[in-house]
Amino acid sequence: MPLRPDRPLRRTLAVLVPPVLAAGLLAGTGAAPASGAPGAPGAPGAPRASAAPQVPKQPVARGAGGAVATVDPDASRVAVEVLRAGGTAADAAVAAAATLGVTEPYSAGIGGGGYFVHYDASTGRVQTVDGRETAPLAMGPDAFVQDGQPIPFAEAVSSGLSVGVPGTPATWAEALDRWGTLSLAEALEGATEVAREGFVVDETFRQQTADNEARFRDFTSTTRLFLPGGELPRVGSVFRNPQLARTYDLMARQGVDVLYRGALGRDVVRTVQRPPVAPGVEREVRPGLMQRSDLAAYDAPLRRPTVVGYRGYDVYGMAPSSSGGSTVGEALNILERSPLRRLDRTQVLHRYLEASALAFADRGAYVGDAEFVDVPLQRLLSDDYAATRACLIDPRRALPKPVLPGDPYGDGGCATAEAAGGDQEGLSTTHLTVADRWGDVVAYTLTIEQTGGSGIVVPGRGFLLNNELTDFNFTDTQAAIGGTDPNLPGPGKRPRSSMSPTIVLRDGEPVLAVGSPGGSTIITTVLQTLVNRIDLGMTLPRAIAAPRASQRNTATVSAEPGFPTGRLQRLGHAFTETAEIGAAAGVEIRRDGTFVAAAEPVRRGGGSAMVVRPRR
Ligand code: GLU
Repeated sequence: MPLRPDRPLRRTLAVLVPPVLAAGLLAGTGAAPASGAPGAPGAPGAPRASAAPQVPKQPVARGAGGAVATVDPDASRVAVEVLRAGGTAADAAVAAAATLGVTEPYSAGIGGGGYFVHYDASTGRVQTVDGRETAPLAMGPDAFVQDGQPIPFAEAVSSGLSVGVPGTPATWAEALDRWGTLSLAEALEGATEVAREGFVVDETFRQQTADNEARFRDFTSTTRLFLPGGELPRVGSVFRNPQLARTYDLMARQGVDVLYRGALGRDVVRTVQRPPVAPGVEREVRPGLMQRSDLAAYDAPLRRPTVVGYRGYDVYGMAPSSSGGSTVGEALNILERSPLRRLDRTQVLHRYLEASALAFADRGAYVGDAEFVDVPLQRLLSDDYAATRACLIDPRRALPKPVLPGDPYGDGGCATAEAAGGDQEGLSTTHLTVADRWGDVVAYTLTIEQTGGSGIVVPGRGFLLNNELTDFNFTDTQAAIGGTDPNLPGPGKRPRSSMSPTIVLRDGEPVLAVGSPGGSTIITTVLQTLVNRIDLGMTLPRAIAAPRASQRNTATVSAEPGFPTGRLQRLGHAFTETAEIGAAAGVEIRRDGTFVAAAEPVRRGGGSAMVVRPRR
């Protein structure tokens, strides 16, 4: 496909984002801090009354010219301004992600990693950047074992040991270089302004701080940044992060090498090796193994996406080191063998739960960092293999869980199923989706793993370090069923992820992109959203809003309160109620080229969808 004539050439738009925010285009449209709010808990000096321009938060937007959906109105606003000024989806996605590093600092930031999935309208190709955090070279398979026992998970989380080499800055540099028109400095402008001017604290931010308060207090740098004056931030006050604004400025001037080879990297390594534990703290905080050479060796490679055909659509996802693409893809292949449109809702949901469990069993047995373990990816994603799994599903009765993995190396047949363990991933992370007027689309999920990551802020730098290495299994989860765990720690290895940024094409054109946070429930959230949209015919906003359930090959299914459990229980499914699963964000591209951007109406306080030219 030729480059569209009106598409900006890379690097021709040096002046394109004149102070994204200075335009003040959106100022005055709402939500100044509540009067009497104390203002500026993160800021030195006198509190100021106003934050960066605020916009009302709405979960659905329809219109033209480009679209964005994130969990946060500041991030969506910054992204839509980049689009409006002529930036590409990649430009806007990086700008939004950097802003989420400010406003969602417990879920994402330059101390973490993620996966960037991109559809390029000029080539018709989907490509992905693997910006997953990486274990230091000194990390062996027993890194999380002490005296023959796995160390307590909570201790592993709040430690230097769990900090992987961050991949987010490298992802931004790679994405801008390949598909952007902005320099890194330009892409960071909006976010830097939000860091400097502040954002209005909402209930979610306050609650997440409260949930982390005990461990945040154990680190001097984290207390200083997120509990200024020793207090939780108040809802309605303005939170500023001048430390992070300076860090972004530094990165704008020196590029991401300031992390991988420069002064910022030195600070990161020092913090990992000697976490700034407050005096008198009793928590055992293990130091990490990261060295400057680990940072210098980091790479965010392009990876070929996974792809499966599903009812006339091509569903592209993230290949290992994430298990997102393979697990969503395998489950779709299994589901495609059932005529879902002709079945009643109970049967559709029954098969959705069973397909998830079967695909999760294979995820546990076969998926890890493919540079270290032999992942039978093609086989797992083949229709033939799906047939050997789908035949296990009994329409009258749920399979006993956990089910055994299948044999992707075998020669077909309907294997028996039964038996393997759970996981303990965090429920943090954030997802954003962007589409631009040229037809490019981005689905980008990024994380620092747990809400609050390792709990350790790099002193003076304004961001938290991840605890992504707790996504490794600490001991061999497959030994009991005669396998070898593909997700044990290893030197330079990437822990298996569940992040599932997904782009769906039809006849080569993008129609939908979606993703979610939520640890391993990400996979089921993305899968359920696709089934809701494609098989149950819901609109994208409804597909996202509908009550969710997540079956990850465990004895019980976690389900949100509104999920219809009654008839499924009669088929043998057992449920445990959970308040909320995921926080999805997606964009649908309609035949006429207009967009439906959709975020959560309620979960996590609701998300923010925007388009460049709203439909009247
Ligand atoms: N660390 C998780 C993963 O990579 C994501 C964490 C979360 O969503 O809470 O799958």
